Amino acid sequence: MAATPETDRKVVQAICSHVEADFAVPVREMDLPGIDFAFDAGRGQYGSIEVLSMVQRLCPEDASKILAITERDLFIPVLTFVFGQAQLGGRAGVVSLARLRQEFYGLGGNDVVLMERARKETMHETGHLFGLVHCADRRCAMSLATSVRQIDGKEAAFCERCSAHLRRSSRKGTVDGNDVKPEVERL
Ligand SMILES: [Zn+2]
Ligand SMILES: [Zn+2]
Repeated sequence: MAATPETDRKVVQAICSHVEADFAVPVREMDLPGIDFAFDAGRGQYGSIEVLSMVQRLCPEDASKILAITERDLFIPVLTFVFGQAQLGGRAGVVSLARLRQEFYGLGGNDVVLMERARKETMHETGHLFGLVHCADRRCAMSLATSVRQIDGKEAAFCERCSAHLRRSSRKGTVDGNDVKPEVERL
């Protein structure tokens, strides 16, 4: 789990424990440089594709996967925003906390709500890194969400089918990192 400098470390620490438990893998924290290089002044947002390629480049050799957590609002050119982005069955992913915060919608901050959303979003992107695709079950963490309302409607858990798929890919060992079709996400 890799954090950009502005990112709330309490959230990152909590996410680490969740990913360790949910995916039964050892997780450690690392620092990332700032992502000002990816800032698009016209949009006032940060380019997710640029950030993802930096994250992939900085993945330590002894780590099989890296998930970056940033407070910055991310976008890709064809979408208004993305909650996150990850390589399907690949090494690198990124999650933005910006739109998971109640403050983004003009509401008072709520740590419980933020943590729930961050956990679901992190599970979702990590699921992609372990080869899981989108799921039609709206309660499953692997369902596609394009709004926080949809994130709030999910559970912080995989459905039976996704869980079974995940168990099969873990048994195979490391997921093949060559299949790095970038999959773009709004969750
Ligand atoms: Zn599912
Ligand atoms: Zn997705």
